[in-house]
Amino acid sequence: MKIRHLLLPALLAFSAVSAMADDCAVTIDGNDSMQFDKKAIVVGKSCKKFTVTLTHSGKLAKNIMGHNWVLTKTEDSQAVATDGVGAGVDKNYLKAGDTRVIAATKVVGAGESTSVDVPLDKITKQGSYTFFCSFPGHIALMKGTFSLE
Ligand code: ZN
Repeated sequence: MKIRHLLLPALLAFSAVSAMADDCAVTIDGNDSMQFDKKAIVVGKSCKKFTVTLTHSGKLAKNIMGHNWVLTKTEDSQAVATDGVGAGVDKNYLKAGDTRVIAATKVVGAGESTSVDVPLDKITKQGSYTFFCSFPGHIALMKGTFSLE
């Protein structure tokens, strides 16, 4: 427990530095408290591509506390999450062929990570976009805004 408390600030400081060094990629973490460590992701003006890496710093398996990172228009987010519940963990809690999904990672559990490239040609400066976890019920806490600088 003591070690964990010492390590955590160091890890957070490290990831902040990484984000500034390369603003065309971001790492976002999900934990066992059903929380992402970021509420907003802003894509830099100069980015031609943008990569999101999702990590899971918790201890629980993906069938219990799994997380994914899904990006849709804000108006579609709740419906995509609702429609994904029946798909199950093997289909990453997303309805097959859901064209409302702009980008999505697979579901990960404790200690795992995954990444996805966001197709920036589908993102406009005027649009409103929301990222969330589509694991059943998680969108209530695990969501944030995605925008262009
Ligand atoms: Zn989740």
